[in-house]
Amino acid sequence: MSQQYQPLSGREFPRFSGIKTFFRLPHVSVESDYEVAIAGVPYDGAVSYRPGARFAPSRIREASSLGRGFHMGRGVELFERLKVADVGDCPTVPIDQEQTYQRIENFFSQLTSLGKRFVAVGGDHSITLALLRSVYKAQGQKLNLIHFDAHLDTYPAAWGCEYHHGAFLRHAVNEGLIDSTRSLQIGIRGPLASGQDLDFVRQHGVDVRTVDDVRTKGLENFVASLPSFADGPTYISFDIDCLDPAYAPGTGTPVVGGLTTYETQRIFRALKIQNLVGADVVEVSPAYDSSDITALAAVDTLFEILHLF
Ligand code: MN
Ligand code: MN
Repeated sequence: MSQQYQPLSGREFPRFSGIKTFFRLPHVSVESDYEVAIAGVPYDGAVSYRPGARFAPSRIREASSLGRGFHMGRGVELFERLKVADVGDCPTVPIDQEQTYQRIENFFSQLTSLGKRFVAVGGDHSITLALLRSVYKAQGQKLNLIHFDAHLDTYPAAWGCEYHHGAFLRHAVNEGLIDSTRSLQIGIRGPLASGQDLDFVRQHGVDVRTVDDVRTKGLENFVASLPSFADGPTYISFDIDCLDPAYAPGTGTPVVGGLTTYETQRIFRALKIQNLVGADVVEVSPAYDSSDITALAAVDTLFEILHLF
């Protein structure tokens, strides 16, 4: 492995020093010879409650200064095995969603057309639809989806607007970007607006796993029950509010009774994915965070996701 994609040494430059990139990795152009890009998508124009996720990429870069490369559970030196780089932020238009979607599609299509894979750091959850459009275009086939969230994200238009942060899954299914019968949701919990909220996922055969499913029969049983993703391209979308607000207070629409960071770590380590093509971590809102609890959870999630590539 070339030295080019190694994090800046904490022994040479202490972790609080230096220009901030994800995991202190090099900031390179999209065309460089890395394998997996980490890219910020600073857009939060589609939130329904607390704003602020536009500030997540820069905050998570800063918090990732403490990120280290050896995964104890897997016994793997991540950055020896995979060329990962920070390709900077995707251009966005803070006051126009249509233009933002176009810029996300253009930026990530550039990556995917070069055969690169990526983790996008949001932004609110509305960005995932544009990300899925660009990955679908590159793959030319429907994607498997693993979706961590407190919410179903199949909600109808809000205030007459279709593309808010709680609707990406409904659009992704309706646009034919993902195979709903090869889609898994983890961390779902109520209260819902009504019992009919579940109609969409039931009609389309989405595998919905609630927090009760994770806990009632124990974590070991739960991870053993996860389906494997051996065929086709797979995408992971991680809404940080799948975690309990005690583990992720800095988010737009917190829901109590959620997962712990340890539970999501164990779920990631149990996932069997043959071909992970893209992922995102969304809905971190630094202004509502406390002592970087949420930003650090996002950093750790990035670390776990990178091992699945
Ligand atoms: Mn959510
Ligand atoms: Mn969501």
